[in-house]
Amino acid sequence: NRNEVTITFDAYSVNEGFARMVAAAFAAEFNPTLDEIEDIKTAVSEAVTNAIIHGYEETKGKVHMALLREEDELTVSVEDFGKGIADIEKAKEPFFTTKPELERSGMGFAFMEAFMDSVLVESVPGTGTKVTMKK
Ligand code: ATP
Ligand code: MG
Repeated sequence: NRNEVTITFDAYSVNEGFARMVAAAFAAEFNPTLDEIEDIKTAVSEAVTNAIIHGYEETKGKVHMALLREEDELTVSVEDFGKGIADIEKAKEPFFTTKPELERSGMGFAFMEAFMDSVLVESVPGTGTKVTMKK
């Protein structure tokens, strides 16, 4: 009993809202509470924004999002093929940001961890980053 949807989109900020809506629509199959939908949308929004602004910075590229339901568990993965993260543990620390000049607060990973049950970050500098979240 399994259902999977994958989408690929260009790394433009305008597509962040689209990815968030797709995730919310997919999650409807779980009969989630409004709070749960908000949590999923926030987590997806943070992961996709990171792919666009940190993964690709000013360059063009594709973002893959996969949504998977297995029984009553949701898995969302967001992957980019951009610059990657040198120190993942440091990147996950609250308030750590490499873009303070863009008024980033460094809270994206902290929100993903707060709103989802688990967050796995895999990244290779120069190759890309994949964030896999479960709820
Ligand atoms: P905020 O999310 O609060 O706007 P932020 O994006 O800097 O600020 P996080 O989302 O927690 O904070 O990410 C922390 C840091 O991890 C980023 O500043 C960036 O250096 C790095 N990072 C996160 N995602 C990626 C990614 N997909 N590719 C490359 N670097 C990333
Ligand atoms: Mg962020």
